[in-house]
Amino acid sequence: MIIKNDEDLSTHTSFKIGGTAKVFYIPENRDELINLIKTMVANKTPFNVLGNGSNLLVEDKAVFCQPIILNKGALDYIKVCGSFVEAGSATDLRNFISKCVDANLKAFPELIGIPASIGGAIYMNAGIGSNKSCISDSLIEVEVFDGSSIFILKKYQCDFGYRSSVFQRNKKFVILSAKFGFQFQGKEVGHEIIKFRLASIGERSYFKHKSAGSIFSKHYSPILKLLRGVRLGGASFSKSDTNIILNLNHASYNDVRRLIVFARFLHFIMFKDCKLEIEIWKA
Ligand SMILES: Cc1cc2nc3c(=O)[nH]c(=O)nc-3n(C[C@H](O)[C@H](O)[C@H](O)COP(=O)(O)OP(=O)(O)OC[C@H]3O[C@@H](n4cnc5c(N)ncnc54)[C@H](O)[C@@H]3O)c2cc1C
Repeated sequence: MIIKNDEDLSTHTSFKIGGTAKVFYIPENRDELINLIKTMVANKTPFNVLGNGSNLLVEDKAVFCQPIILNKGALDYIKVCGSFVEAGSATDLRNFISKCVDANLKAFPELIGIPASIGGAIYMNAGIGSNKSCISDSLIEVEVFDGSSIFILKKYQCDFGYRSSVFQRNKKFVILSAKFGFQFQGKEVGHEIIKFRLASIGERSYFKHKSAGSIFSKHYSPILKLLRGVRLGGASFSKSDTNIILNLNHASYNDVRRLIVFARFLHFIMFKDCKLEIEIWKA
């Protein structure tokens, strides 16, 4: 197990914003991860699991006393067995898709652009479009550890919705692995979709600059369209993409947070609903 003190969290988030973690754990195998979580739950120590860090706004100029566990090496594996695939939660979603497509499986190649670990993608039910395609589409079950026991949640027990899942309401549930079942599809077709998708997202502002993808999972588009290009400090709503905030020039947590507060205020005074998609971690 690698244990670091005073780890700079900005290096672990796609926004490149974040304070320091007093204790930062990187378990190197499954047993280390399980024992660490078991100890923390037994000691009633709250902790945060960090995947790829692509959906987070982390407070900066602050010290996080609660331990952060980076799920990186310990559960990074893919096992293909016919049309069924098991993946560890630390597996990079893009590697997962590429490997499955190579095995002639129709493994949502259109999600290739999403920077995520399998655990983070399941937690968020990551996907594209309003309801076009998401990771739960081909999911069979998820292996979970709650600090005392390891159990399986079938797909219907995960309560998936648009960018939501049961895991967002049960912070003690750590995703260990997941099983998927895919239809067969020639690898040429999958690779063609991947190529097309990568070409279409390549020019998007949120891939060119530091960001965390979409800010709100529910919003009123005319308001967010109005906010395009609105800038505060180093952070700005994208000029070309709606619902995106970019870290253009050493943006702080507060720069981004104030843009979010402003967008929420506009929704409030116009009696429109909005719901944050990104997660905010405060020390
Ligand atoms: C350029 C860019 C493009 C994006 N495009 C899309 C898109 O098209 N569609 C989309 O849906 N999203 C998109 N996103 C957002 C992001 O990629 C997804 O939300 C992704 O699922 C986050 O996964 P992660 O591993 O980075 O999770 P993190 O950001 O590390 O964590 C997010 C949450 O998941 C929890 N978590 C992580 N791993 C586990 C685990 N093993 N067990 C339990 N909880 C866990 C964390 O504790 C945290 O609460 C984009 C982001 C960027 C930066």
